[in-house]
Amino acid sequence: MRAFTSARYTVSLGHHSYPMEKYRLVPERLIAEGVLHDDDVCEPEAASVADVLRVHTPEYVDALMNGTLDRKALLRLGLPWSEELVRRAFAVLGGTYHAARAALEDGVAANLAGGTHHAFADYGEGYCIFNDHVITLRRLRAEGYAQRFLIVDLDVHQGNGTAVLCRDDDQTFTFSVHSESNYPARKERSSWDIGLPDRTTDEQYLDVVTDALPRLLEQCDPQMILYQAGVDVLAGDRFGKLALSLAGVAERDRVVCAFARRAGLPLVVTLGGGYARDINQIVEAHCRTITIAKRIV
Ligand SMILES: [Zn+2]
Repeated sequence: MRAFTSARYTVSLGHHSYPMEKYRLVPERLIAEGVLHDDDVCEPEAASVADVLRVHTPEYVDALMNGTLDRKALLRLGLPWSEELVRRAFAVLGGTYHAARAALEDGVAANLAGGTHHAFADYGEGYCIFNDHVITLRRLRAEGYAQRFLIVDLDVHQGNGTAVLCRDDDQTFTFSVHSESNYPARKERSSWDIGLPDRTTDEQYLDVVTDALPRLLEQCDPQMILYQAGVDVLAGDRFGKLALSLAGVAERDRVVCAFARRAGLPLVVTLGGGYARDINQIVEAHCRTITIAKRIV
């Protein structure tokens, strides 16, 4: 299975709570464990400004690239601006796009970053600068690779930016399962939202997802699945209120992968969030996601 990653994915944020190191540690560990071989690990070509402008406004993109976002915009984004951070954002977009192209050829592929579902057309939010899923699907569509998409967003936080950006797109179905009481306080409307109560455990969570996935295909006819596999659903996550175990998250990923395989749909895996206090737990959970996805092929 091809997995996209880059040294550009990890930039220094100084003393910041965002676990940037995971983007270096996850590929390192997957290679060390033999899950990914050298041939599987691909450096993505960065996205272009034109790709980004399919989704984001010129004013926002200009301010971001020139470092002129105002204080309010930076607070909303939650990351300190730097040229490296902007370069990283374009690299990560390239990773999701090229993973999608690889998934069309191979059935499954991953970007070892991405799932930046809180980015809106004219601003970034919640550590998300650009919306990689929506930029990817618009580019694939423009290039004629695929027209109809299903976004399965199982991060603990609702995919609010994705929901708004796809609201008038009748060929993209957005499905979000999240914690009802977590950020964002104001939920947007996805095609289908399931908000779960605090401290939802493995069994309850897996029942919901296992029941919902087949029903998605009664509501849409996608050519590809873009999966946001956030691991901030784990119990004890600093920013999540659900209570899944590592085994529960792995089972969730197995359920999603089996669903994609049964439906015969290419699956693009993106990492999404994960803010456990112990970075090893974050890395372990993401690595399990990739290990499971690899078994599809
Ligand atoms: Zn999240």
